[in-house]
Amino acid sequence: MTNGVCALGIDVGSTTVKIVGVDAEGNLAWHHLEQAEPRVEDQVERFLAITPPLTSPPQEGGKEGGLPLVATGYGRKLVRQAERSITEITCHARGVYRELGHGGTLVDIGGQDSKVIGISSKGDVVDFSMNDKCAAGTGRFLENTARRLGVPLERMGQVALAAAEEVSISSTCTVFAESEVISLIAHGVAVESILRGLHRSLIKRIVAMIRTVGLVPPLMLSGGVVQNQAIARMLEEETGEKVVIPQYPQLMGAYGAALIALAAKD
Ligand code: ADP
Repeated sequence: MTNGVCALGIDVGSTTVKIVGVDAEGNLAWHHLEQAEPRVEDQVERFLAITPPLTSPPQEGGKEGGLPLVATGYGRKLVRQAERSITEITCHARGVYRELGHGGTLVDIGGQDSKVIGISSKGDVVDFSMNDKCAAGTGRFLENTARRLGVPLERMGQVALAAAEEVSISSTCTVFAESEVISLIAHGVAVESILRGLHRSLIKRIVAMIRTVGLVPPLMLSGGVVQNQAIARMLEEETGEKVVIPQYPQLMGAYGAALIALAAKD
């Protein structure tokens, strides 16, 4: 798995930090992921210390003799070891295009932001919309409300999909949705019906963003929230489009950054 890592990409997100190593052909060869810590600089230092040793001779371009490194994500500017910092929009598009081999509309749902990115058939970003001002439409929305319902993050999607009924959640704001959830519980509404309604609310928010960019199939998904199975299923229901997901959706930003670092070497 660690054979021939020759460039690195690091994605310092608001919720998780991811690092990816690619081989000379640009294949994803190594990765590591942790929850984001307040002291980003120390965490990045630790990530770089565990990168696999070079299996081929070092090439020109690596800062301080190390592997070429590109940073992306919310905290990318804090990675002083990186040669360049590039936006998540560019990096997610790059990673997903390389892995799936086609353009379309990419939806990235992270811990505290969400994005819709239009990618051309050549892999260029043609348009995008980003929400990083409001927790609605992000992982945080589900995390906060699921905590209220006592359902573990990893099971939320499964529980929501198993619901026989769905409650309509009128508040899009996370804070108000939490109060609404408390009130629904007090009225004896089933946890799974509330959860399904919360997922619907998130998906509707995402669909509104998709509409501002315009949906050009195929619809693709990246980001940590995609590990929740209800997301793809309900997005398919709402849009009528089949959703395509890369093998490691949460790593696509870091993968794209590593591909950019690799291309800059040549
Ligand atoms: P960022 O890049 O913004 O830091 P990520 O793309 O890493 O965020 O996504 C993190 C979010 O993914 C978490 O906030 C959480 O809501 C969600 N998540 C992670 N793992 C799972 C899982 N197994 N099931 C459901 N949601 C998950």
